[in-house]
Amino acid sequence: MKHKIFAANWKMYKTPQQTQEFFKKFLSYDLKGDIFFFPPALCLSSALDETKNSNIQIGIQNIYTKAEGAFTGENSARTAQEMGCSTVLVGHSERRTLFHESEILSEKLQYAQSLGLKVVFCVGETLEQRENNQTEKILTEQLQSGLRKAQAQNLIVAYEPVWAIGTGKTATSQQAEEAHRFISQWLEKNNFQNVPILYGGSVKPENAPELISQPHISGFLVGGASLDPESFKKICSV
Ligand code: PEP
Repeated sequence: MKHKIFAANWKMYKTPQQTQEFFKKFLSYDLKGDIFFFPPALCLSSALDETKNSNIQIGIQNIYTKAEGAFTGENSARTAQEMGCSTVLVGHSERRTLFHESEILSEKLQYAQSLGLKVVFCVGETLEQRENNQTEKILTEQLQSGLRKAQAQNLIVAYEPVWAIGTGKTATSQQAEEAHRFISQWLEKNNFQNVPILYGGSVKPENAPELISQPHISGFLVGGASLDPESFKKICSV
């Protein structure tokens, strides 16, 4: 039986009040598997309060590479950890594209792991790269660069084809499985044993059952469909 992991990336959606309302409903469901939520930083307190008597883990969407300092606007991983966060999201395509993050990702990952935090590290190709048969090359580059200072322990990788994020266009289960198999082989070859690999990109209750049936897909990282308790519950029930 597969050990499944479900992670919700709320991006910059929901207020503290909406966070409370979400969890009041979501916690009434009886769900199995590891479930993570990445709410906006300003909703972390609400999410942590609401979930304190549950198995749900709360993570932060972005951290800086230092514990403290003159870094206006940044989030400290140490502070997030003291608040009760267990996990950090690193390398999401929106951070790579909108905030031009690339080299800094391995520093963020290493720093989070040095504190004992888990990391969900995202990789994925653009449509242009896929159409030019560069998917494996891009995945290799992102894994090599992002994981150069990483440990296998406390690491989860998420394969998120950029063309499928927030577009309603999901990778077919075959496309996703091929990429997951490739990532899994790369991880094993590079001494990262037993690292779960999540699929992300327009996952919905309708496509989740077929995707999760693929041998190398351990679970999902879900954006849009995680904002509604009922729809995320259905995904977590596959
Ligand atoms: C994401 O933000 O990581 C994501 C996969 O979004 P969506 O599910 O909306 O495509």
